[in-house]
Amino acid sequence: MTQDSTAETLLTRWRVCVRGVVQGVGFRPFVYRQATELGLTGWVGNSPEGVEIEAEGHPVVLEQLVSALIQHAPANARIDDVHTEPVAHPGAFREFSIRESEKRGEASAQLPADWATCQQCLQELYDPDNRRYRYPFINCTDCGPRYSLIEALPYDRANTAMRHFQMCGRCLAEYHDPASRRFHAEATACADCGPRLAFFPSDGDILAQDEAALDEAAGRLAAGEIIAFKGLGGFQLLVDARNVQSVRMLRERKGRPDKPLAVMFGSLESLQGVCPVSAQERQLLTGPERPIVLLHTRNHGLADNLAPGRSDLGVMLPSTPLHELLLRDLGFPVVATSGNRNGEPIAIDNDEARARLVDIADGFLVHDRPILRPLDDSVARVAAGCPQLLRRARGYSPNLALPLPVPPGWGATGGHLKTTVALSTDSGVVLSQHLGDMDNALGREGFDRTVDSLQRMFATRPRCWAHDGHPDYYTTHQALELGPLHCAVQHHVAHVAAVMAEHGLSEPVLGVAWDGSGFGDDHTVWGGEFLCVGPQGYQRMAHLRRFRLPGGEAAMREPRRSAFGLLYALIGEELTECEALPPVSDFTRAERKLLLQALKAGLNAPETSSVGRLFDAVAALAGICQKASYEGQAAAELEAVLDRESTPQPYRFDLSAPDTDRPWQVDWAPVIEGVLADIARGASVSEISAAFHGGLVNVIVSMAKQSQLSCIVLAGGCFQNSYLLESTILALKAAGFQAFWSCQVPANDGGLALGQLAWASRLNQDREAPCAWPYRDA
Ligand SMILES: [Zn+2]
Ligand SMILES: [Zn+2]
Repeated sequence: MTQDSTAETLLTRWRVCVRGVVQGVGFRPFVYRQATELGLTGWVGNSPEGVEIEAEGHPVVLEQLVSALIQHAPANARIDDVHTEPVAHPGAFREFSIRESEKRGEASAQLPADWATCQQCLQELYDPDNRRYRYPFINCTDCGPRYSLIEALPYDRANTAMRHFQMCGRCLAEYHDPASRRFHAEATACADCGPRLAFFPSDGDILAQDEAALDEAAGRLAAGEIIAFKGLGGFQLLVDARNVQSVRMLRERKGRPDKPLAVMFGSLESLQGVCPVSAQERQLLTGPERPIVLLHTRNHGLADNLAPGRSDLGVMLPSTPLHELLLRDLGFPVVATSGNRNGEPIAIDNDEARARLVDIADGFLVHDRPILRPLDDSVARVAAGCPQLLRRARGYSPNLALPLPVPPGWGATGGHLKTTVALSTDSGVVLSQHLGDMDNALGREGFDRTVDSLQRMFATRPRCWAHDGHPDYYTTHQALELGPLHCAVQHHVAHVAAVMAEHGLSEPVLGVAWDGSGFGDDHTVWGGEFLCVGPQGYQRMAHLRRFRLPGGEAAMREPRRSAFGLLYALIGEELTECEALPPVSDFTRAERKLLLQALKAGLNAPETSSVGRLFDAVAALAGICQKASYEGQAAAELEAVLDRESTPQPYRFDLSAPDTDRPWQVDWAPVIEGVLADIARGASVSEISAAFHGGLVNVIVSMAKQSQLSCIVLAGGCFQNSYLLESTILALKAAGFQAFWSCQVPANDGGLALGQLAWASRLNQDREAPCAWPYRDA
């Protein structure tokens, strides 16, 4: 055999399929460069499953290509699987090329998320000699919008909002040049061919375009006006963060009296001039996801009404070139909050934004690149040494990497507030962005649109939809409509299951599920639950002693009502005379009488075992918060007054062992007695808060010991309280337990959909039809 014929025989063709986050991250150009450097011929293209390669060459060189794919993949890519197989007909390729996408099969590739402007694009943005100097929509294969402008998979320009912009000659040349950073950059554009800026006042027509529009917006912000700004995933409302008057005006117009507002700084340096930033926080702030990061700070020197009653401030850095330019021109930080009224989804369309925000904003800085999907800013923080997401949207959605696979064909509709939707596909779990609250029509429309578009984009129709156990939630009704099969998952079980799914836990755990409220198996309002959760089911091991909430729903907005209900359970009618207690004196005599009647008769005074409401009651008793204007306000303010250095004797919860097989009861009576005694002796709110938090930590450790389980899961909205979370984790570890909590997915109801999906699919994996709820017998 001659040398030539050996080479001929060894010339092999491989098909390589790469799955994961490989579209919209510059993967095809990367493959092209690797393959041409190795002297291989063939092609690379996007496929519905990810990226497909056919390459021809010596087997050893083909091996080199595959290992290069894994070792040198682009920064923003995530490879889940590489599959290779030999195919027939070698010898037909002359060169290596990038192929246009084929439309076929099931679209199961993972969608790329939206990324902040990369360093190289920033350099070009500020380089006067670059042809994209100060072009607000500069991007490349490593950065820019993705999920927010994708209409369908595969990720090609024709399937994005950029299809409305015809590339100019120079952009087109870059797009086809393998040596360019914009080789097959689907969202590429320049000032000659791409989106343009415009400014209009709320009561008039377009006043300025391009640079002049930017100037107009900057000038008005400096003058204290409120500007509606079309960002990456929707409109934001901007105002000078140093200007107390302007911030107050924004709060009034937006109907948001107390809820903290996030601040955008032009650079990390200017942020560090205002509050300290740890190395981990810096990483979060400057990462491509660019979330809002909650920092501990009290004296930031900005307007004092940014985060009233809080000891933290949400801050972020520019995520788009447009934000970059504006912030640099301004030279001061701005409030950047979602362009909506409270609880509604963020506005995305220019006309829609004008209609919805005309009474809030003085002017509008807009552009003509359509946003196909609303994406709020994500919210994160560093807690217990790890990054933790509190709102999952821009930069993170819709992909989710889980350690254990979830069977495909499932959907989950989430809860009522902070709703998200989850789907399981062949290539993993998709978790929608934060969709807002379902108590308004816009929120419900956004939910329906998202359910529809995710199903279309991933070409999947779940056979079975999991949903909350609450019979009246909009998302429950929708799950029943979506069918054909459905499966209710108890609210707190879903909270625990979400953490288990995130950490790949399959052994039995003690789930501590604490939040404001969730529909319980016994049709009462749960929220202070200790659940033994195993692969086969769950058991309610213990719960907070129940108390009545006079006024029902109204108690969610008025912490004083929770205090009233607790005091009634503790001291009966006498409570109406306790004028010295803030939650009592806050009601008129006539109101007290009505509340007492409701409590006595048990009318419109539902029972709850909620720890969230216990937080409310203690905050009200301590005189911190009687009425709340946002969810979790009283608990957050109670946490904020806590002095982390002070260590008073923790309050004590009584654990009552059941005489039958009923759950244990965690009795708050000695806690409230302790609070009342401390108030009587004039203790500070800081001491009361610390003693209360300490009591909660101790009761978790006690129940962990009782459970005889080694893995303890901390789930539910109460664990957004970083002091509670961190001190519980420390105490559990000191007592020899392993603690787990949510990091990638919010601890609040934003994580319910994942929990529902994971729980329902695992429990029913061997069943033809999902079994009836509730599941019992852990
Ligand atoms: Zn870039
Ligand atoms: Zn161009």
